[in-house]
Amino acid sequence: MSSLWSGLKKNKRIVIKIGSNVVASYDKGLHEERLEQIAAEVAALRKSGHEVFVVSSGAILCGVEKLGLSQNPRSLPLKQAAAAVGQSHLMWAYERFFGRFQVKVAQVLLTHDDIVNRRRFINARNTLMTLLDYDVLPIINENDTVAVDEIKVGDNDTLAAQVAHLVDASLLILLSDVDGLYSSDPRKFKEAQLITLVEEITGGIEKMAGGTGSKGGTGGMASKVKAAKVVTTTGVSVVILNGTSPGIIGRAFGGEAVGTLFLPKRNRLSSKKQWIAHSLKVRGKVVLDQGAADALLKKGRSLLSSGIRMVEGEFEIGDAILCCNEKGIEIARGLTHYSASELTRIKGMHSSKIESVLGYKSADEVIHRDNMVIFDGTERSSATTGR
Ligand code: GLU
Repeated sequence: MSSLWSGLKKNKRIVIKIGSNVVASYDKGLHEERLEQIAAEVAALRKSGHEVFVVSSGAILCGVEKLGLSQNPRSLPLKQAAAAVGQSHLMWAYERFFGRFQVKVAQVLLTHDDIVNRRRFINARNTLMTLLDYDVLPIINENDTVAVDEIKVGDNDTLAAQVAHLVDASLLILLSDVDGLYSSDPRKFKEAQLITLVEEITGGIEKMAGGTGSKGGTGGMASKVKAAKVVTTTGVSVVILNGTSPGIIGRAFGGEAVGTLFLPKRNRLSSKKQWIAHSLKVRGKVVLDQGAADALLKKGRSLLSSGIRMVEGEFEIGDAILCCNEKGIEIARGLTHYSASELTRIKGMHSSKIESVLGYKSADEVIHRDNMVIFDGTERSSATTGR
């Protein structure tokens, strides 16, 4: 297994996400020493030829401390004000710390729209690539000051996953304040064991991640595993490391299994499928019966109305929705040909009945196979063509 870890250093383009609790705390503000230490590690990676993009959380936490608030604000305006105060404080710190290693930095603030909208996606990508050409280190965060729910990515694990897609990275490192994924909650159970290698993100792995949240950040372990599930499907490796532990990236790149490594699926998805997997905000969910789940997972079929048992959420034609099996595990994600209200009327019915019930039929399939990403590694089709 250590050979899998020592393979990490072969990844040239890397996204490193630094979690809120690594960056700062409510009472003490920025952890300056730690940030300087991480800056030294990132600078060393760049020196040895890696191309690095940083996604940093911590703006709101820094703002909370600077504004003298005792806890995370509840109201949106105050949260956004805290983000505005904190983001500049954060960048100022990064300027200083990276400056010590002669690394120039740039602030890039993104919203969900910059990723789902193809034109803006390409625009954001061009900007990031230009920064790379000029040997500048992009430090990316969500534009919390303007983002409202509809345009929010929501948490930086997801944002970092999207950035990995945006810049075509082959490795995503999530720096957290825990060592990685544990078999059970290490704060409650002494026998909890660190899982150093995940070959496939199964329902059991997702369950382990369930409750391991931490104060300060948004995501917790569940959102890390969720991000890893999407990212590994598109052929990218993911590592969770403890960013509070000095020299941790160097140790991982030296082949030490010091966190959790999620292996990528062998096949890379096509650009369109990557876009479906990463970029689109999921607007709803359908629960499938066993037959439909098998048809998707084992037979490479499209999703038909007859296999749908339940419809959740309010979505329109063309929106991205999740497909879950009867146990509630996400098995696929895709673009729907029917809205939630239409699906509620035709669920469980044979495709031949759609027209008589709705008065029209836009397609035989609810989600065509070409517009669907399967989360079990069986995705083949144009998988290896990449971009
Ligand atoms: N964008 C948020 C911040 O900078 C962090 C979101 C998260 O913790 O995932 O405070």
